[in-house]
Amino acid sequence: MAKKLRLENKVAIITGAGSGIGRATALIFSREGAKILVADWSDTGGKETVEQIKKEKGEAIFVKTDVSNAENVNKMADICLAEFGRIDILVNNAGIVKFGPLHETSESDWDTVLNVNLKSVFLCSKKVIPGMLKQGGGKIVNVSSIAGLVGFDQIGSYCASKGGIIALTREMALEYAPRKININCIAPGVIKTAMTKDMIADPAQRQFFESSTPYPRLGESEDIAMATVYLASGESDFVAGEVLVVDGGWTIK
Ligand code: NAP
Repeated sequence: MAKKLRLENKVAIITGAGSGIGRATALIFSREGAKILVADWSDTGGKETVEQIKKEKGEAIFVKTDVSNAENVNKMADICLAEFGRIDILVNNAGIVKFGPLHETSESDWDTVLNVNLKSVFLCSKKVIPGMLKQGGGKIVNVSSIAGLVGFDQIGSYCASKGGIIALTREMALEYAPRKININCIAPGVIKTAMTKDMIADPAQRQFFESSTPYPRLGESEDIAMATVYLASGESDFVAGEVLVVDGGWTIK
């Protein structure tokens, strides 16, 4: 008997799916039977993800989207509805980080990080929730970070945005769990992607990351993608407002 796919016939929007964790999530979702809208502001990255999915005989489209811009987000979700007819899953994954001491952070950098990482969760969720309510349910997975749980030096705006995602996830779960929209978040530890490439290339930083992670390796995008499949599938129907920490044990110490 053929194995039952965990996201069979589901339609998923994955933001930031042109790279790293988002791309791995898109590929694994597709292998589990979902149709994917790849939303990213990177043309090259977004199109590459779609090509990879199509090579594996999956269904996907790319929509160039700045997730911090309401007009872009609304258009992206409308294209998803026109193409696939519904939206079952939203993964709010797109994110950026900016480094520096808090007292030297410009107001514009602060706003950019908060807009891309946190406001985007509000904008994308606001747009898709009405359809999910009409359908009788849905799944939203927000990608936070362990930087939303514990302090990290020199990334104040990032920590604030990721802590905000955790608080917003709990609020949204409370509001929509009664109507069968599951809303949860994931808090990754250090994962090898474009975002962390330069840090990991620095021997001192790598040593710090490795010595802070009890499990004897750094994270891969697939580690997060697999956890996201669980939160996007029927397997997690009774899970609401949870923070699923996937960090090799960084935060248990
Ligand atoms: P990544 O490889 O840099 O991927 C992020 C993707 O989001 C990129 O394709 C990026 O495009 C896109 N993006 C950035 N701003 C956008 C916007 N305004 N609109 C649409 N797309 C946008 O990073 P990643 O490590 O996979 O990160 C994915 C998520 O995981 C982020 O929310 C990040 O904070 C979170 N996370 C990562 C780690 C880690 O260690 N890697 C740890 C904890 C949490 P460009 O490349 O063109 O900018």
